[in-house]
Amino acid sequence: MILTELQSKSGINPTGEVDVSFDNYVSARSRRFEKHWVGGIPDYAYASDFALRQKIKAIPGAYRVFKALNSQVVPQMKQQYNMSGTKVTPNQFPQIYQVTKECADMLGIGMPAVYIQPDPSVMNAFTYAVEDAEPMVVIYSSMLERLNIDELKAVIGHECGHIQNMHGVYNTAAEILLNTAQNTLLLTLPGIRQLLALASRPLQYALLAWSRAAEVTCDRAGILCSGEAESTISVHAKLSSGGILNAETLNIEELLKQYDVMRENPNRFFEWSSTHPHSVRRIMAAREFMNSQVYYDWHKEQKRPDMRLYSKQELDARCDRIVSVTKSEKR
Ligand SMILES: [Zn+2]
Repeated sequence: MILTELQSKSGINPTGEVDVSFDNYVSARSRRFEKHWVGGIPDYAYASDFALRQKIKAIPGAYRVFKALNSQVVPQMKQQYNMSGTKVTPNQFPQIYQVTKECADMLGIGMPAVYIQPDPSVMNAFTYAVEDAEPMVVIYSSMLERLNIDELKAVIGHECGHIQNMHGVYNTAAEILLNTAQNTLLLTLPGIRQLLALASRPLQYALLAWSRAAEVTCDRAGILCSGEAESTISVHAKLSSGGILNAETLNIEELLKQYDVMRENPNRFFEWSSTHPHSVRRIMAAREFMNSQVYYDWHKEQKRPDMRLYSKQELDARCDRIVSVTKSEKR
């Protein structure tokens, strides 16, 4: 509309100098992101994420069963959330729509469908993504109540990271493995019993270890979308305390002391059964990312000449020492 007014008033086409053809848009876009792809994965992805995924993929039959499960579970879940949630559109939750678009544009992926799930009791967000259908991001209403828009952008950027890194097939398998005992309905789906037969303890632990590594990758995606790490750190701090309303009483440095306790405790192996690294580990890994070359490859405008930055290998090695349950090092 603005364009039409300008054209009619000035008598010229203000975009006359700009090539707006779709073919050129697509090739310009792929050129822009090409340099961020290394060996078929985004340059920011945590090395352990890819390495562990390859190990799981090498287990005979695993990937085939995961894919079969996804084809059963994902359409059902999508239907369920379409029935119980509210879809974000340009005219409904427009701010959420806008930040989702900004995240998708930053990472160079298509716009996912976003649904708000009414549940004030659980702070959660997740994504269903399979190769041949539009991905779906689900955000629980408690997130909207307890996070500001910058924090929501970090969360949505994180979810877009799952889409970009094609985590969907493995995420769904991990979720099913952990929830089948609680959700007996899942047992009626074709392929579930095959998966459970395949899912020896080592595979379960491999999936969980991969899942924790994948979260580090996606926190980095969220940080890239935000253009800062503070929002991601703030989300983790709020998650660690349930996002209680007086969030200003949270103190990140106090919170990080729990890392010192956790890494020294002989029962730290409890964490092996977690799908996500503990919040304090994620906060520390987020800070490391802000000292890396790869962050400034995406945000050149923030780079200062006097910065000493870690290479990608150094970054991942430092994150290994933070995220690893058994090899965590002193701060
Ligand atoms: Zn995640």
